[in-house]
Amino acid sequence: MSAAEILPTKRVIDKEALLKKYRAERDKRLRADGNAQYTRLEKQGYVASADPYMPMIERAPKTDHVTFAFVGGGFAGLCTGARVVEAGIKDVRIIEKGGDFGGTWYWNRYPGAMCDTASMVYMPLLEETGHMPTEKYAHAPEILEQCQRIGRKFGLYDNALFHTEVTEIVWLQDKHAWLIKTNRGDAFTAQFLGLGTGPLHIAKLPGIPGLETFKGHTFHTSRWDYAYTGGDPKGAPLSKLKDKRVAIIGTGATAVQAVPHLAGACKHLYVVQRTPSSVDVRDNRQIDPDWFKGIATPGWQTRWLENFTANQAGGQADEDWVMDGWTDLSRRIRERIGTIPMEQRTPKAMWAAWEDSDFEKMEEIRARAATVVKDEETGEKLKAWYRQLCKRPCFHDEYLQAFNDPDTTLVDTDGKGVERITGKGFVVAGKEYEVDCIIYASGFEVGTGFTSRSGFDVEGRDGLMLSKAWGEGMRSKHGMHVHGFPNLFFVQPVQGANLISNVPHNLTEGGRTVGVIIAEAQKRGAKEVEVTEEAQKAWVDLLLTGPGRMIGMNDCTPGYYNNEGLPAGPEAKYAVGYPGGATAYFKYLDAWRKDGKFDGLAFR
Ligand code: NDP
Repeated sequence: MSAAEILPTKRVIDKEALLKKYRAERDKRLRADGNAQYTRLEKQGYVASADPYMPMIERAPKTDHVTFAFVGGGFAGLCTGARVVEAGIKDVRIIEKGGDFGGTWYWNRYPGAMCDTASMVYMPLLEETGHMPTEKYAHAPEILEQCQRIGRKFGLYDNALFHTEVTEIVWLQDKHAWLIKTNRGDAFTAQFLGLGTGPLHIAKLPGIPGLETFKGHTFHTSRWDYAYTGGDPKGAPLSKLKDKRVAIIGTGATAVQAVPHLAGACKHLYVVQRTPSSVDVRDNRQIDPDWFKGIATPGWQTRWLENFTANQAGGQADEDWVMDGWTDLSRRIRERIGTIPMEQRTPKAMWAAWEDSDFEKMEEIRARAATVVKDEETGEKLKAWYRQLCKRPCFHDEYLQAFNDPDTTLVDTDGKGVERITGKGFVVAGKEYEVDCIIYASGFEVGTGFTSRSGFDVEGRDGLMLSKAWGEGMRSKHGMHVHGFPNLFFVQPVQGANLISNVPHNLTEGGRTVGVIIAEAQKRGAKEVEVTEEAQKAWVDLLLTGPGRMIGMNDCTPGYYNNEGLPAGPEAKYAVGYPGGATAYFKYLDAWRKDGKFDGLAFR
């Protein structure tokens, strides 16, 4: 049943009362320490990079030279590596801290993990690899296999360095190349270098007092311990938990997917909630091979990407092929805006249209929680009191249902979080809950600086450090080229399309751009390519003419989307995308790549 069906009559929404409730719930959660409330895995005795999935293989350090190197073997590295190989470069080396390609999908093997954006647009290079996704939202093992398929298809395994972390990157002017050093003793050079370390790769733990005193078993969801729980990433039951009392701390997108697998498998499951997620309908289904054959004509994935982005991020599209929760909200907003006469479309009127659509949508989602969950009090506590895009929207058809399991208890902390971890369990509102295992579904570091998260700084031309160049906020052209850092490409969304609902779209386009630029440099016999200072400034000035960070984010409930609710520093205004939106950006970029002028870049 869809959320809209649950709320059949269009009730008049008391906006003032809702806003008051939103504010009260937000204020409860605001805390002065913001991002500093979190700590890293080392606190639990983990080595941050310890890999439960694959043993590390000894190898000799590399001291050679390659034409192209890329830091990060997730989607960014794979999409870029593939396009650079297509551009005729044979020696491509990807450096990755996991034991294989996959990035997020290498580490996150928790039960139930699947993509939240439709596979047809989320999984990269489907057309190039000839793979048909089996489900509308593919499960994690299939996505990991797709990463490996890309690696094999484009020969990216041959030169890859796995279980390797970059420690230092320095521009060598006399060699027109980057020197890359790693924790495995490598010190090799690369003429061109790409960075795709991603925003969500350092697992974080809540800094709850007593964290290290727990005597039972514990792990973070991105290091799932199947040896302890039984089962496997493909969905086999977690058979070893039958006699275990388990707590999962956190109710974000990860927990929403994992909880249905834990509920029913444990002797007792405690789901410890600080802020409820908004959980809309998933409606996953198998993809019909006959239907797929019909649509998979040349260029199909590009057309699907364009269609999703147009529907979700403010472009023009006659049809909505993906039809899901992401495009639904956008459609409602567009329809409402459509009813406002042209001459009355002021920013205030547009914002009101947005807010009204959101109120309506969130009322439906809250009604869904109350209807699906049989225990009235639990259903009430699972209602999310904020606008849908304040936090990562979630979609699931078994999460809310899990709370109907008699051995599953929601421990709601009323926005305060866990008070204390003890040797035996955890404490909420003064009550100790004894458990055998605590699973942290507490997410990943976001609000920290690029160099702190990536674990290395980059030393560009004349000793310019990236941390200094970006000290007052990110500066780039297209989010990819930074003045003072020749032959370096950042493959990521910010200062480009900044399309959050489907991050891989940013990366496939980024990868394509790198391939085209390297081919052009080779054609021109250029040793270096670098954005000019003027072009970078002009791009940043253009970005600053846009609407800025999402309006209304500041009064959202705290989370990683809004710097945990604290005022963002002056650098935050640079964390934006193309003023015309994602569809317009991709169109612009395509023309920029094709006209052969590479406006703003200097080839030397
Ligand atoms: P999140 O950061 O979204 O969630 C962390 C959870 O831990 C929140 O519920 C948070 O509560 C809770 N928490 C933090 N501190 C405490 C505390 N002291 N006591 C109790 N609870 C606490 O992490 P996730 O791993 O769930 O998701 C991270 C991101 O990864 C997602 O937003 C999404 O972008 C991506 N993801 C994507 C998926 C997909 O596409 N399929 C699936 C899973 C993740 P609070 O909300 O109050 O801060």
